[in-house]
Amino acid sequence: MPATVRIALNRPLRRLFDYERPDGMVLTRGQRVRVPFGRQTLTGLVADTNGTPPEGLTLKPVSQALEPWPALPDETVALLQWASHYYQHPLGECLFTAMPPALRRGRPAERPAPMVWRYTGSGATLPASAHRQKALLDWLKDQPGDVADSTLRAAGFQRTQIDALANKQWITRVDPTAPQAAHVADATPAPSCRPTLSPAQAEAASQLPAVNAGFSATLLYGVTGSGKTELYLHYLKTHLGDQDQALVLVPEINLTPQTVARFQKYFGDRIVVWHSALNDTDRLDTWLKVRHGEPVILVGTRSAVLLPFTRLRALVVDEEHDTSYKQGDGFRYSGRDLAVYRAHLNRCPVILGSATPSLESVHNARTGKYRLVRLEQRAGPARPPTLSLLDIRSRPLEGGLSRPALSAIRDVLARGEQALVFVNRRGFAPVMMCFDCGHLMECPRCDSRLTYHRRDRAMRCHHCDFQCAARDTCPQCQSERFKPVGQGTERTEDTLAEAFPDTPVVRVDRDSTQRKGSIQQILDKVNSGAPCVLVGTQMLAKGHDFPNVTLVVVVNADGGLFSVDFRAPEQLTQTLIQVSGRAGRAEKPGRVLIQTCHSDHPLLRALCSDAYLDIAVRLLAEREQGLFPPFRHMTIVRAEADTMARSLALLDQLKPLVPAGNVECWGPLPALIARRADRHRAQLVLLSHQRGHLNAALSGLCQHLDQQRLPSAVRWMVDVDPQETG
Ligand code: ADP
Ligand code: ZN
Ligand code: ZN
Repeated sequence: MPATVRIALNRPLRRLFDYERPDGMVLTRGQRVRVPFGRQTLTGLVADTNGTPPEGLTLKPVSQALEPWPALPDETVALLQWASHYYQHPLGECLFTAMPPALRRGRPAERPAPMVWRYTGSGATLPASAHRQKALLDWLKDQPGDVADSTLRAAGFQRTQIDALANKQWITRVDPTAPQAAHVADATPAPSCRPTLSPAQAEAASQLPAVNAGFSATLLYGVTGSGKTELYLHYLKTHLGDQDQALVLVPEINLTPQTVARFQKYFGDRIVVWHSALNDTDRLDTWLKVRHGEPVILVGTRSAVLLPFTRLRALVVDEEHDTSYKQGDGFRYSGRDLAVYRAHLNRCPVILGSATPSLESVHNARTGKYRLVRLEQRAGPARPPTLSLLDIRSRPLEGGLSRPALSAIRDVLARGEQALVFVNRRGFAPVMMCFDCGHLMECPRCDSRLTYHRRDRAMRCHHCDFQCAARDTCPQCQSERFKPVGQGTERTEDTLAEAFPDTPVVRVDRDSTQRKGSIQQILDKVNSGAPCVLVGTQMLAKGHDFPNVTLVVVVNADGGLFSVDFRAPEQLTQTLIQVSGRAGRAEKPGRVLIQTCHSDHPLLRALCSDAYLDIAVRLLAEREQGLFPPFRHMTIVRAEADTMARSLALLDQLKPLVPAGNVECWGPLPALIARRADRHRAQLVLLSHQRGHLNAALSGLCQHLDQQRLPSAVRWMVDVDPQETG
């Protein structure tokens, strides 16, 4: 009998495919091959070298091995096999997610020749308008040697700026293979530019495990501005060997040139970055560096956890509570949770850092699964901000802002400092309403209201891509009393611009930062320290370090207080503490004003007086009472179809297949937004004390569903450890 192998294909199928291994072809697990599939030839990955094909079947042979080495090393395959089982997602798709697009398509696993630049020392006068070009020149001048193009771009410089300087011959492209050009991997700048650890940081550092001490997970609870990033840098610098690889996961928005520059200051060219905006060439290049075991310290977003490391010795997950670590569609993994499993596979430490750790991680720390290291003082001279509630019941508001809030902003600006105003909605107003007939503008495709965007006179749905022109009269009764209701960032921006005509007002939300590099321009402006008012969403709450912001105003905190989502109190607490944490990060003290109509709400009161960890413990007690995660494991099976009846019918079918006793089932019920982009959505929630039972039940359901011939309008998906439960 001929030798056979089992191949994983990039298909949404919960199975592998058997092929004949031609004589003389050596194949190992994780290797890329080309195989015939129907009338096509596809790229596949060897999942198992010892297949046992069903009797009496003639198998087609593998056409070709794409390279003699496994694209995915054993450890990466093991990680993905585990993830495929845990998240009940087809193995083939999981494995292919871990490869860059070029390799998925069967392109050669070769590195494009790197582009390297050198400062020529000529040319000093640039017009003032070319400040980015000047910044690039200055930056290059400070480097100890030649600099790779990818490093330049990781530092935030753009192709156009690089090309402009090359045209003027102020920088030249050099051949990196020529001996004098080699930029040694650890050409790190002098240690003098690094701060010494504060006593609190040093104490925390002494509690972190050595990289060779085996697996451990540490929750680093460090209040905002406590210098967690500094601690990670110090930790890696102290513990990481010259040949070791390390992974630092950050939320998408935190991977700004500033963060990267901070890492480069310590580690120079050893830093490589990974995020969704990389082009295919850089993606392949970085992927290959990691795969070939170069001693990189990779700073990246969620999917970096799937890279093919071969010498991974330490992992850090910054802002571990951030919901962007959970993939929202397809292979719905949690980057944070996979990082913990990966540390376990590599018998190395993982550090999960946050000022507002997830209740799951707090629970793990309390039960001894994770170690807990506390860093409860701000670094340097900074003091914690003081929070107070501002009752806005029966107070007149202008653009959502009360008089006391506006006057607090005025005081801060008069002192030459900056203020930050947090609004949880982008656009001008979350809804348009007719004050004669009560009509509300709704999305024709979703069960939701349209947001009014005044800047471009549009009504937009934030749940699908629907938009239409804004109108001045009610579409129902033609009344002119058709007005925006509620607050969005644009409206607050207008109010602030009117109140402070001589001060720049900078809006930061998804709309104002869409253009590439715009977030950086905004950050540069804020970091110049001149008085300004920042107004923005969630985006502003995440990890930024604005030394001159001394006042934070939260326009309205009440949305999260009465939500049906069991995670809402946790998320509200995290957001408010994170956004408050932007105040007073340097010498000057910071103040936070939270506007609310519920100033006696226990959660808001606790925020003003208690530490996050104490609040978290109380929120955990509530979760325990309701038997919510982490006290039971949760999975949601979702269905969507052209009618609600169809979605519900599919889930109804599943319910009897769930073994009663071990797994509790809620639903099926329509989702909170039952119709989105004309799809009717329903869900079945499964809960169990034991992950094993839940996983087995889920596996049964997936097999059952795979065997169904479902109408094409019906789709289903499973979400293990869901972040969104509506
Ligand atoms: P976190 O990540 O905890 O929010 P950062 O690492 O960004 O905190 O540090 C907050 C600020 O404190 C930064 O401006 C940083 O440069 C500064 N900082 C951190 N550690 C020290 C230290 N040991 N001495 C002086 N300044 C420090
Ligand atoms: Zn009307
Ligand atoms: Zn819509």
